[in-house]
Amino acid sequence: MRKRFAIIGAGMSGMLAAIKLKQRGIEDFAIYEKAAGLGGTWRHNTYPGLCCDVPSHVYAYSFELKGDWTRRFSPGAEIQGYFEGVAAKYGLTKHFHFNSEIVRAEYRDRRWHLAVQDGTTDTVDFVIAATGVLHHPTYPDIVGLKDFEGPSFHSARWDHSVALEGKRVGIVGTGSTALQIVPAIVDSVAKVKLFQRTAQWVLPLANPAYSEEEKAMYVGKPERLRQSYDFWAQRFVDTFARAVVGDQNELQKIEDACRVNLEENVPDLKLRRKLTPNYRAACKRLIMSDTFYPAMQKPNAELLTDGIRRIEAAGVRTKDGMLHELDVLVLATGFDGHAFIRPMEVVGEGGRQLADAWAVANEAYRSVAVPGFHNFFMLVGPNSPIGNFSVIMISELQIDYILQLVDLVCDGKCHAVAPKAAASARFNAALREAMKGTVWVSGCKSWYLDRSGNPTLWPWSFDRFRAEMQKPDLEDFDLAA
Ligand code: NAP
Repeated sequence: MRKRFAIIGAGMSGMLAAIKLKQRGIEDFAIYEKAAGLGGTWRHNTYPGLCCDVPSHVYAYSFELKGDWTRRFSPGAEIQGYFEGVAAKYGLTKHFHFNSEIVRAEYRDRRWHLAVQDGTTDTVDFVIAATGVLHHPTYPDIVGLKDFEGPSFHSARWDHSVALEGKRVGIVGTGSTALQIVPAIVDSVAKVKLFQRTAQWVLPLANPAYSEEEKAMYVGKPERLRQSYDFWAQRFVDTFARAVVGDQNELQKIEDACRVNLEENVPDLKLRRKLTPNYRAACKRLIMSDTFYPAMQKPNAELLTDGIRRIEAAGVRTKDGMLHELDVLVLATGFDGHAFIRPMEVVGEGGRQLADAWAVANEAYRSVAVPGFHNFFMLVGPNSPIGNFSVIMISELQIDYILQLVDLVCDGKCHAVAPKAAASARFNAALREAMKGTVWVSGCKSWYLDRSGNPTLWPWSFDRFRAEMQKPDLEDFDLAA
């Protein structure tokens, strides 16, 4: 019998799911997206300096590599353009339903009944939730946040109607985002004041432009592109991915490189001390930049480390009593990385609510499915290895795994599939145990940690992830007849 699918989210992973369905000859699906267009994070983030910190040659679908990226680490707008081009090329346009937030999904009478924000409904056999991780901006709980009289916005909601040229700009936060914004604006603003709560380790990776000769080496040369993809992927696997899950040698090499970067590139001892973290490198997401330290040493840049007491009409008052007058205030304060799928209400077998299943922690079976929620799958779900590798590579492995489960239903072997509760509990217990050996729990605060202090990442090697995603172990699944 023909099955209908709903994909929720038109970002990188939702588009991937759509392409994979089409490649299997499945056309009966809709991609629901609450925003007005595709692209997910690359649509929402448009701040100055936005770049991907995964090399361009590996930050692309493996089946749609691109030879003419302009830089080693692509600018955000170029990545958004890539996804728009892919959507057109693979015929996704007619499947998109934009401005269509799914507010409720209920499994009833063996099908998923979806309610869209605008009042319309759909009924499908499978749901693939590709709703992203870094999606809900976090606003800081700073006293007086609303009192600031000038323009103020979150980095993921950049207000391009506000010209920064010649202005005094304050930035709260020192994550990957803030550290890209500072070098991008420092030369055009009158003053940039960076309010730092925690210093960051910075790996000095350059982002050179590809010359026309270099691009010509790859354009129209799929084998070369594939070699470059494999090269960058393997580099991540051999270095960073090992370091974060317990390879002390690799971790030390990364930390040493960051320390040398700081010592060689920040001669002023007072500034260097302020920029020196007091936790292990890669405990938070490592910053890749060779422009941040030079930017912070420009005469119009200032690093404030006294902590923010409150925000006032004219600017930010730090705990030392100083008022830092500003024209524009940018909140580069990150995202709630734990609101997977929500606020959508998901109701599974027997009225079981996903919100209840996840009341304590977001637990999934191998990141892709949850017991009691038949024919409901996730891409980049809880504990996906997003801190370690290109998230596109992760999603590709996950969708191939999910579609093997879907095939069981489409081939008539069962009418629905979900992981067994015991298998999921076993998986999550092993996960928690393995987490103890990772750098993420070595004593820093980061968006990786959930309310209980557990990282929602993958604590093992990439090879293990790839091996686990090769083929579902059907013993672990409830195949409903
Ligand atoms: P983030 O890493 O979570 O950083 C948020 C920053 O805001 C932190 O420095 C945090 O300080 C600060 N902050 C939060 N609340 C605060 C408060 N009340 N007072 C003062 N400071 C406060 O967020 P992000 O920079 O947007 O990056 C999030 C993730 O997005 C990254 O880790 C990365 O995975 C991804 N990303 C990637 C790229 C890239 O590819 N290059 C670029 C941007 C983002 P504390 O550290 O003290 O908590």
